[in-house]
Amino acid sequence: MDNLLEVKGLKKYFPIKGGFFGKTVNNLKAVNDISFSIKRGETLGIAGESGCGKSTAGRAILRLHEPTAGKIYFEDQEITALDKESLRKKRREMQFIYQDPYSSLNPRMTVGDIIGEPFEVYESMSSKDKMDKVKELLNMVGLSPYHVRRYPHEFSGGQRQRIGIARAIALKPKFIVADEAVSALDVSIQAQVINLFEELQEKLGLTYMFISHDLSVVKHISDRIGVMYLGKIVELADSEELFSHPLHPYTIALLSAVPIANPRRLKDRVILQGDVPSPVNPPSGCVFHTRCSFCMDICKNIVPEFRDAGGGHHLACHLVK
Ligand code: SF4
Ligand code: MG
Repeated sequence: MDNLLEVKGLKKYFPIKGGFFGKTVNNLKAVNDISFSIKRGETLGIAGESGCGKSTAGRAILRLHEPTAGKIYFEDQEITALDKESLRKKRREMQFIYQDPYSSLNPRMTVGDIIGEPFEVYESMSSKDKMDKVKELLNMVGLSPYHVRRYPHEFSGGQRQRIGIARAIALKPKFIVADEAVSALDVSIQAQVINLFEELQEKLGLTYMFISHDLSVVKHISDRIGVMYLGKIVELADSEELFSHPLHPYTIALLSAVPIANPRRLKDRVILQGDVPSPVNPPSGCVFHTRCSFCMDICKNIVPEFRDAGGGHHLACHLVK
């Protein structure tokens, strides 16, 4: 499989203004130097607690947030070098699905207009052709063509997320960033929507970056998983491998916090000490060193390199040679 997307040294800092003249006094380092690639047709899950920078990373990749530094390549074309107009054209191939189906759909637009809007923006099409397309899309996401004239409030949360998905796939994109796309839904509905994501991937050859704080969701859908902590990817491996052989102390702690069926395994639980430090002043050296029970002197001063520890299992930790 070749790479659809390549991210090199991506940073996204949000300036913090202060003083009399509103000068930038510091930066919130939401994404702090991450590099990875996504293969064509695969699903890369991005996991981590809230505030770790995963949503910002997803947005920065599509330049919904302008990156502070780093390069992004989509099919070998440098996205970070595109001017506004070329980026607008490129966007039809790269879509974003939002966390909250309740607020991401315009309540005053009919479902037909919501799903049909991308055609207005990108293609000149007769209204009959547009309606035919919309009905076809409704079918694809498991809704009825009769729903075109209804409004978002008439639908359940799961159905609204289906509407959001129909809109995102309208222009046949190649890549979708889904940010907590099922987190607001009931568990039973989550499974149905995840199945829809998988079905559409198969049918349309889609590539996903699937962001979620919920490890069981990420595990279900992802081929590979990257774990983020304080703006960094600390570990990235095949989904099965990450769950069976986690290597980074943070991943081990995160996985041990997932509810488990066998209570005897409770003794293996590693409890995370203390709070996540502020992304305004992240710790020196390894960002996890203030909470890591394996912390050594080197961890406090030297940033561990994010590297392949074998077989594509990447991590940033001084402990694993
Ligand atoms: Fe812990 Fe050091 Fe590894 Fe960081 S580099 S996770 S502090 S052992
Ligand atoms: Mg988020």
